[in-house]
Amino acid sequence: MNRRRTITIAGTVGAVAGFMGVVYGTANWATSQREGPGSPAGPSPAQALRAGRAPIPEVAVAPGTGSGPAPVVPPFPKFTGAPEDETGATTTVRSGDVQAILDRTPLAPSLPAAERDGLIWMREEERLAHDVYFALARRWGNGPFGNIGAAEATHSEAVRLLIDRYGVADPASGTVVGNYSNPIFSRLYQELVTTGSASYVDGLKVGARIEELDIRDLEARESTLPDIAGVYAELKRGSRNHLRAFVRQIERHGAQYAPMYLTIEAYDAIIGSGHEGGPSR
Ligand code: MN
Ligand code: MN
Repeated sequence: MNRRRTITIAGTVGAVAGFMGVVYGTANWATSQREGPGSPAGPSPAQALRAGRAPIPEVAVAPGTGSGPAPVVPPFPKFTGAPEDETGATTTVRSGDVQAILDRTPLAPSLPAAERDGLIWMREEERLAHDVYFALARRWGNGPFGNIGAAEATHSEAVRLLIDRYGVADPASGTVVGNYSNPIFSRLYQELVTTGSASYVDGLKVGARIEELDIRDLEARESTLPDIAGVYAELKRGSRNHLRAFVRQIERHGAQYAPMYLTIEAYDAIIGSGHEGGPSR
């Protein structure tokens, strides 16, 4: 009994210390580029997001409608068809399609701080995917890195449209490739490019890892707002397709991939399913 309690407290202290490190790192923008590659261990980005932020007032995005019931909004319409590349691996999200749907979706009267933070996080995480794949494409040739990297630019752009819609400052503004407002991503970029540059298969494994991370972080941000939920659903569909594509390539090269972020059950369910095409126009 006592022993179990001691272990539990020690674990909690360790977790809090880990979160504090993330909080400090997040506030310390200027030093981010001097820090070494981050460790894959420690709190997840989702945990950091939940634990590392002080409460922030909700951001008003439209004239108030009082404290009445939430506005009734129609189910989020399916995205219109997105072109897939010839391998069927790449899932693009066209900004024109996203914008058209946003234009038809009522704007929420206020954007909860957690939703705002989620948009900022995913804007940078999708950009991280693009930047890492393009660095790996320079190292190993275009192939899946070039194709999937190009799709990631459309994913980050889809989040930017939401950011614009809700009047949130774009964290990508004024930044360059590999450099992010959140130093967690700057460190992760360095680590992933370094790891993925060791061999072609290591590069493919970095791809699978990024797609897993995307799925986990999107699921942690499950939105109650239909426009945000709809975009996130498309990004998750893209990540499932990309994960399958990377793992297929890894196995084609005689290697194996073990999931790093998803449960084995969730991972097996994705790998055991076929490519998910976009809704037809
Ligand atoms: Mn993506
Ligand atoms: Mn992807």
